Amino acid sequence: MEFIHTIESSSINGLQTIREASQEGLTLCFPGVGSAFAKNNDHTCLIIAKNGITTLVDAGTSTPRVLLSRGIEISDFDYYHITHSHADHIGGLEQVLLYSHYVLKKKPRLILAREYKDILWEQSLRGGCGYCEGGVLQFDDLAEFIYPNQVDSSPRGLYEVEVDGIKLLMFRTVHIPTEGDNSGSKFWSTGLLIDDRVLFTADTRFDPLIFEHIPMDKVDTIFHDCQLHDPGVVHATYNELKTLDAGLRSKMYLTHYGDMFHKFDPVEDGFVGFAQPWAIYQ
Ligand SMILES: [Zn+2]
Ligand SMILES: [Zn+2]
Repeated sequence: MEFIHTIESSSINGLQTIREASQEGLTLCFPGVGSAFAKNNDHTCLIIAKNGITTLVDAGTSTPRVLLSRGIEISDFDYYHITHSHADHIGGLEQVLLYSHYVLKKKPRLILAREYKDILWEQSLRGGCGYCEGGVLQFDDLAEFIYPNQVDSSPRGLYEVEVDGIKLLMFRTVHIPTEGDNSGSKFWSTGLLIDDRVLFTADTRFDPLIFEHIPMDKVDTIFHDCQLHDPGVVHATYNELKTLDAGLRSKMYLTHYGDMFHKFDPVEDGFVGFAQPWAIYQ
């Protein structure tokens, strides 16, 4: 994937720009590239577009506001996918559900593994979304669901789905260390392989086995979680990622990074660079 251009802050319909670009082929854009605690960038979220169809991957607390900076309502997307339940990834999801329900009178379409659907609802969303003036709401009252098929459980949980010509392979990641292995620790977190070509780790510890467990033969671009300071604990650090093969680093943009990014030179260290907010990659 190559950088095409950046959607300027003066744009009043950024999603239309992305939709039009996607007529030329798979198109990605990160409105936010920041970590959970970043203040200079917004929470990492990803727009996937192809043939005019758009999917928002993750809806963090700052996502509704950063989308609106380019004239995009968080309810404007054709599909939604959530990688895990930290607030920098789901803090804006209640707004998607409730605004769609009460104002738009429609159900957003969520691409979620069946087992994560229940975790997301019971542990996170139900408290704010489970009650209405008429009584009790269930997750199915608020959204439509597209369930990927589980295609592998070991050595790593893999889930596959194709929506409107976009192929998504979800793979379990080890973000929060718990007992369990790469087939799925207790905390649910997943990354994405998009159309066999683009790998987005979402949040993960340093875990080079990803590149053995996921088919990498067609992958030309990797967007990898990157914490700038050591130790990693629940994220891959810049210094850990520097130990990867030069071949992997030469395809790798860094995402989910903190505010001290200006002190680093990822190009000098063999990476493509930091993913830039609102850059269109195609
Ligand atoms: Zn995060
Ligand atoms: Zn996280």
